[in-house]
Amino acid sequence: MRRATNALLFLLLAAALVPLNCRRATGSAVDPLDAEARRILTDYIRIDTSNPPGNETAGANYLRQLLAKEGIESQLIGSDPNRRSLYARLRSGTNEKALVLMHHIDVVPVAATEWTKPPFGGVESGGYLFGRGALDIKSLGVAELMALIEIKRLKLPLRRDIIYFAVADEEAGGLRGCKALLDEHPELFANAGYVLNEGGYNETIVDKVAFWGIETQQKLPLWLRVRVSGAPGHGAAPPDDGGTIGRLVRALAKIQEIETPYRLTPPAQRYFAALAKTKNDYRGDAMRALKEPIDVEQLKKSLSPGYRSLLHDTIAITRVNGGTSLNSLPAHATADLDIRLLPDETPDAMIATVRSAVTAAAGKRGEVDVLVTAAPVPESTPNTDLFRVLTRQFQKAEAGSTVATTLGGGTSDSRFFRAKGIVAYGIAPFKVNYYDADTVHGNDERIRLNFFTEGTHLVRSIVREFCAREQ
Ligand SMILES: [Zn+2]
Repeated sequence: MRRATNALLFLLLAAALVPLNCRRATGSAVDPLDAEARRILTDYIRIDTSNPPGNETAGANYLRQLLAKEGIESQLIGSDPNRRSLYARLRSGTNEKALVLMHHIDVVPVAATEWTKPPFGGVESGGYLFGRGALDIKSLGVAELMALIEIKRLKLPLRRDIIYFAVADEEAGGLRGCKALLDEHPELFANAGYVLNEGGYNETIVDKVAFWGIETQQKLPLWLRVRVSGAPGHGAAPPDDGGTIGRLVRALAKIQEIETPYRLTPPAQRYFAALAKTKNDYRGDAMRALKEPIDVEQLKKSLSPGYRSLLHDTIAITRVNGGTSLNSLPAHATADLDIRLLPDETPDAMIATVRSAVTAAAGKRGEVDVLVTAAPVPESTPNTDLFRVLTRQFQKAEAGSTVATTLGGGTSDSRFFRAKGIVAYGIAPFKVNYYDADTVHGNDERIRLNFFTEGTHLVRSIVREFCAREQ
């Protein structure tokens, strides 16, 4: 019975979301854009844009010809011929602040042998579409594209310009992608007032969303490389300190001992207060009880590392390189650190702490390179018309759901727009169950096809409400 009621509710909801002119004469709510969106996502996933090396130009060209078919002009931008981004602007003829619909073309590399489906095959199975980028974040790029295509096909007059921006290099930090393009081509983003990008969050239980998080601030990436050197030699006659690798291991052990105290920043406080209202369990209790000074031992019993990462700096050793053969001592070895700082922190103190840990273990034979760093940027205010549209549309898609701002634990290109004073929101329009969400940057990344379709409708509705002047 409950099932039937839910199914009915869903049908009513779906019917409400589908524009009238897309319904078939029979009255059934079949939307012709749905099949197109699926096909486009499948083809887009089949283009391998693993970064490194990226090869985003192939993805940009694919999107470009789709836009061209609709009569939407676009341009490839960026200085590296293999790593272009794509830019298009639908003009409104008004002075209202433009909306930027953005996503990144690149994806993280795969360990193909650990996948059960080919990562760039675009294989459908069991109601899912499998492939790298299915969740992060080609799906969002396709939903945004469909919003643009719908408006263009329906010839809807616009109240503001819409910029479609598919960008290279996000997964490597975005310095050669979004950051460089914003610096080199400010004219392309003239009068841009809002950005919709990846980075949001939702809590999907089975097929219902209790909480939609709109990311308005994020932690700051600090990516470091520890380099250790030493004399090469025979593995049968090691020096007393173990040589290069021995020093590196000790340096890493010291780095793991670096303390990262817990602290409640305003965006984390707001996020947990809102999220707590949707949880009537021990986690909700822990979120409600959050206050300074934080009782870390108590918190560890209730909240997962993912939640807790929003309350302190984190340090992850993500890659170790060194050695060429089992019986040789290498001259060089490196380890990469993915550090995420709380959003109001400058990176200098952490860099100095890591340097002194490396020096203590390896002396002058140890060095630290800063690969990616970021300064704090202003949080995007939720007090905008766009935020109100998002709230209305998310709640329309899921009656009774909560919408609130979140602090993102990861990073995205949104920070480059925020640094320029442009409001950027991270959204997660696709429902995703936790076990599927875990495939982001992991194996067997996949999206449920019905969630993809629903989320695409949601993005289209958001863009229409905010940008189109419906007659
Ligand atoms: Zn991403």
